[in-house]
Amino acid sequence: MVLMEIKKYPDPILEKKCEDVVDVNIEINQLIGNMIEAMQKNHGVGLAAPQIGVLKKIIVLDSEKGPIAFINPKIIKKSKEIETIEEGCLSFPGIFLNIKRPKEVEAETVTEDGKKIIIRLNGLLSRVFQHEVDHLEGILFIKRIPFWRKWKIKNKIKKEH
Ligand SMILES: [Zn+2]
Repeated sequence: MVLMEIKKYPDPILEKKCEDVVDVNIEINQLIGNMIEAMQKNHGVGLAAPQIGVLKKIIVLDSEKGPIAFINPKIIKKSKEIETIEEGCLSFPGIFLNIKRPKEVEAETVTEDGKKIIIRLNGLLSRVFQHEVDHLEGILFIKRIPFWRKWKIKNKIKKEH
C-alpha cells in the first residue's frame, strides 16, 4: 500500500465538495485501505477522503472494534442536545478547538460491502463522524467557531508556513 500524504490547510482541495460514490468496487476498497493506513500512521481518530486529495464521499473512523468506513454518509437526524468538545484535525497539526455540535446523530450510509444502512451514533464516534462528514462538504472545523477566533488561528497558521 502507498502511504498517502495528508493535505494540510490552506490546501484548496480541503474546501471543495466531494462527489457520491456510485459503485463500491475494488478501487474504492483499496482507497479505504489507504485511508485507514494514513489515519493510523498519523495517530488520527478519523479521516475524510479529501484529506488525502480524493474528492469522494468516504470517511474512516477508529472505533473500539477497529477502523470503520462510511461511504456516502448523510446525517438525517440530529439530537437537540448540544455539547462542546475539543477537536483536532490531521489537516491542522497542533490546533485544537472547542466545537459545539449535536450530541447524537442518525445517518444513512453505505458499507464497504455496498449495503445501505441507517446508523445511530453517540459519544466520541458521533463527534468524529460529524467532523468527518463536514470535510465531505468542504467544511473545516475553523468554520464552526466565532469569527474573531478564526482570524487568530488563520494568522497563526500563516506565520508558521
Ligand atoms: Zn478534520
